[in-house]
Amino acid sequence: MSANVPAANDEPDRLPRRLHGLPRGVERGPAVSVMPRRRLLLAGATWCAMRAVAEEPVEARSALRVTTRAGGVTRVLDGRMIVEAADGGLLLELADQRYEILQPDEIVSRERLGSLPLAPTPKDLGQRIQAELPPGFETHVTRHYVVCFDTSRDYARWAASLFERLAEAFLNYWSRAGLEVAAPREPLIVVIFAEREGYERYAARDLGAAVDRVVGYYNLMSNRVATYDLTGSESLRSGSAGGARRGPAEILALPDAAPLVSTLVHEATHQMAFNCGLHARLAPVPVWVSEGVATFFETPDLRSRSGWRGIGTVNRHRLERFRRTYRPGELEALVGTDDRFRDPATAPDAYAAAWALTWFLISTKHDPFVRYLGAMAGKTPFAADTPAQRLEDFAAAFAAAPADLEPALERHMARLETRTP
Ligand SMILES: [Zn+2]
Repeated sequence: MSANVPAANDEPDRLPRRLHGLPRGVERGPAVSVMPRRRLLLAGATWCAMRAVAEEPVEARSALRVTTRAGGVTRVLDGRMIVEAADGGLLLELADQRYEILQPDEIVSRERLGSLPLAPTPKDLGQRIQAELPPGFETHVTRHYVVCFDTSRDYARWAASLFERLAEAFLNYWSRAGLEVAAPREPLIVVIFAEREGYERYAARDLGAAVDRVVGYYNLMSNRVATYDLTGSESLRSGSAGGARRGPAEILALPDAAPLVSTLVHEATHQMAFNCGLHARLAPVPVWVSEGVATFFETPDLRSRSGWRGIGTVNRHRLERFRRTYRPGELEALVGTDDRFRDPATAPDAYAAAWALTWFLISTKHDPFVRYLGAMAGKTPFAADTPAQRLEDFAAAFAAAPADLEPALERHMARLETRTP
């Protein structure tokens, strides 16, 4: 069992923080990481939404069968207990990777299973997902992914190859840095709609009114990335009839290929980070960290065949925005709270600052940053860190308060060279 999976009743001392109860009303899509649409169409790559411990084989005692009754409906759920609250509430992970929050008043009974239900094969998983989607979806399976799509197979293949490159590079990068990351035990699920309308109907339940502004997102509860075929829509429409087949070269020749690649890589980075041990789903990972990591990886390289070659390129759009909008004194708030990411008026600037801080720390304080990520990886679902705790974690890793690092951050960003990819 990994350190972030508190579970068994009989081991209360392994619960880093004893929750009284689990939050209500977040089942439909809490903390999603989203990609603002408007920013994408302005051609600025832009964005939005983490633990570092490979999960060890699941221990049988976390496998539960729970019978629930709510609204006249009885359900029997088999899954892995992630969190048990003091009032009896449960956070359960189901076989399709979904998290379910079960309140004590809806739990009729629970029993331990000798072992977890077998994870579905990638093909079966694809079929389960397809059954939840409108007719016409197919599945493309790769090493780390199950991609369900109703757009062209060429686009799905190209997107999957981009995800695979990201997966390899991401895991290599952090394991070389010394973090205990590991490939996800089960394939990661990505849903790609052909058309914006279908995507909006699907995403509305997660995003509500924000669906309008978002072209792709990762949902921490369902563990899925959802997006739509951006080559067939809006400013990316190239004049050809809808449904025209496009290979990688044609996709990358589109005028807005760079933000397209960034969007996909950004959301795939979040999903991989939450599934390889870099962050724990629903844990209080500061948004500047999760977004800093995602923006560190998102920079496209249109000279490469897939449109993305790896990491370590200056994120020009983020850097330019940082230089234009950053005001001294903002760093403490960025580290202490997520407020600036939640407000649409300040979010793009906050993403730029998250990229800048992450780049600066990786470049100049590499080992402390890696240790800090390791500490963030140990955060547990639903723990509620105060701003003071977050500032303390930061100071413990870097031996400095954010304000102390600010002048060096600004000098570093002022000197950084930008090169157009
Ligand atoms: Zn994001």
